[in-house]
This record gives sequence, C-alpha cells and structure tokens, in this order.
Amino acid sequence: MKRFNCQVCEQTIYFENTQCLSCKSALGYVPEEKTLMAFHQGENDLTGLSDQKKFRRCRNGITYSACNWMVESDSKHDYCFACRFNRTIPNLSVSKNIEHWKILESSKRRLIYSLLEFGLPLSNKHEDPEGGLEFEFLKDTHERIMANEPVMTGHLDGTITLNIAEADDAERERRRLKLKEDFRTVLGHFRHEIGHYYWLLLIQNTGRFDSFRKMFGDENLNYQNAMNRYYQHGANDSWRQSFISGYASSHPWEDFAESWGHYFTIIDTLETSIQFGVKFSDNDEHLDPYHCSSFQKMLDQWLPLTNSINNINRSVGRPDLYPFILTPRVVEKLVFIHDLVQEHRS
Ligand SMILES: [Zn+2]
Ligand SMILES: [Zn+2]
Ligand SMILES: [Zn+2]
Repeated sequence: MKRFNCQVCEQTIYFENTQCLSCKSALGYVPEEKTLMAFHQGENDLTGLSDQKKFRRCRNGITYSACNWMVESDSKHDYCFACRFNRTIPNLSVSKNIEHWKILESSKRRLIYSLLEFGLPLSNKHEDPEGGLEFEFLKDTHERIMANEPVMTGHLDGTITLNIAEADDAERERRRLKLKEDFRTVLGHFRHEIGHYYWLLLIQNTGRFDSFRKMFGDENLNYQNAMNRYYQHGANDSWRQSFISGYASSHPWEDFAESWGHYFTIIDTLETSIQFGVKFSDNDEHLDPYHCSSFQKMLDQWLPLTNSINNINRSVGRPDLYPFILTPRVVEKLVFIHDLVQEHRS
C-alpha cells in the first residue's frame, strides 16, 4: 500500500480515512487516479483540491459509512468501482452484521487496490456476465445450519462467496486453531479466492495447462476426495518443503490460490514498508514492487524485512508476524505467479 499524505496539511493519512484527523479536510479514494484525495465540501458534491474535479461519495459511504471511495459527479453510477462488484451483502438489520460487513468491505478495497496496481484484467459481472467478477457476503442462518448447508467461503465461475463470520475475530481464531493454520485473515481470504478466479482467466481460458501442471500438479485430481482427505488427515508432515501452507498441499488448485494470495501479501507489504522508509540497502527506495520485473530483487528485500519484523514481534511478546518459510520450491511457485501477473498486466 502506498503512503498517502493530506494535500492540505501534509499529515500522513490512511487508506481507510474519510477525514484528515489533523486539518479535518474530507478525504476519499479516487480509484481512477489511484490516490486518496482531499476535498472541499460543497453543497452536493466534493471538489478535488488538486484538480477541481467534482465527486460524490459511494452510496455505501453515504448510507452506512462502509466505503470511502469516490464516484465522479457526472457518473451514472451510485456505487464506487469497488462496490459495483457486490452481488449480495448481508441483512444489515441483523445486529453485528453491519460491523462485520464493514470489515469485509475494507479488505475488499485493499484487494481491488492491488488488482488495479497490477493492472490485471478486471470487470464486474454487470459489465461482463460471463467472465466478470462478483462478491457474495453471506451469513449463516439458523435454517442453513439445521440443513447442514453452512455458507462456504469459496469461488465458483467468477463469484466469490465469503462467510461474514470470518470478520468476527474470535470465530476466525477458533477456525484457525481447529484447522491448525499458522495464519488466517480476512484479507488473506480475499487474496486466496481471487487466485481461483485468475486461475480461470489466466490458466484455463488461455489453455496454459502444461506449465501449470509442471509447477503445481494435475488439477484433474478429484477435488472432493482431496478435500475430504485434507480435512480428515490434515497435511503431510513434510509439506513445508514444497508448499507455502498446509492447505496448499490439499490440491493443485489450492496450491495455486495459496501461492497467488501469498504473492499479493509479499508485494503489498513490501510496498508499504518501502513507502514508509524501511530500507535494508541503498537501492531500496527505488524499488516499486507492483511494477518491478525481478522477483529476486524483491525477495532480497523481503527476507531481511520479515526476519526483522518477526524479531520485533517477539520483543513485544507477540507471535511471529510472518510464520512462513520460503523454500526454493515455494519460491519457484511464486516466480510462476510473478511471471503470470507480469504477462497479463495492461
Ligand atoms: Zn489534512
Ligand atoms: Zn464503495
Ligand atoms: Zn481455495
């Protein structure tokens, strides 16, 4: 994530902010300009301080304070670029739903930020019903649970479903422990599921099966059996040699999605650290992770960075922030993802 500064007072502002805490200017993210802008508050519109263009807040921002992205005033859309991917949101009259939904929306915008920075093909299902992307944010209901049909987080033909229970810290942690995972975050879910979507677009639709199978294995392996085996017996003891997570070892599709999501974590976190002036050598400040063609160059920064943040976490008495091991086999997979993203960026 880039570092943003208020255009009025220079204060560092966060991607999620709607107002500058220092000078009180209205703030909003303009995806077309890839920037968090400061605005003059007009009667009906907000006027950009840098270019005098007029904007409105996304309807989810106006109605629920659930979005800080902007729409140009003359646009036919009520919702911002990111919110136009929503197909279903939970029933907001049910208590806690709005709180949990906002957490999902916030992570979703970080995901869309990354996709726009990479310049990957991206359209919503209104524009492209066949190949587009959409999100369903669903809550388990009493009926669903009684029928043994809980909401499953997953991807199918461009529809990403997320169970909003994942936004509840206690529930997500309970699931993490039950599944013996090292890492489970809402943002991680988005980065993983979008990997399945791009597998469809960039591997299946381009017929790139040979190179995919060489790296991740044959995806024709029966998926349901693989899942049953994984949830019954867990990952093989030696999974760390070849996989970024235990779950990645369950099936080639999951290996791809886990590697894809991890690649996003590396690039975005590296961008944040560089933007905030963390450096390990004199060349660091020129590195732009979203546009860097060499994965090795990024790895040269990433390894000392994760090593230091893990030790910082231990010093304050917290578990490692980055509980992963990048073995040569895992790095090969990340390079595969890197090359794929580089090839398909516009
Ligand atoms: Zn300010
Ligand atoms: Zn929005
Ligand atoms: Zn998956």
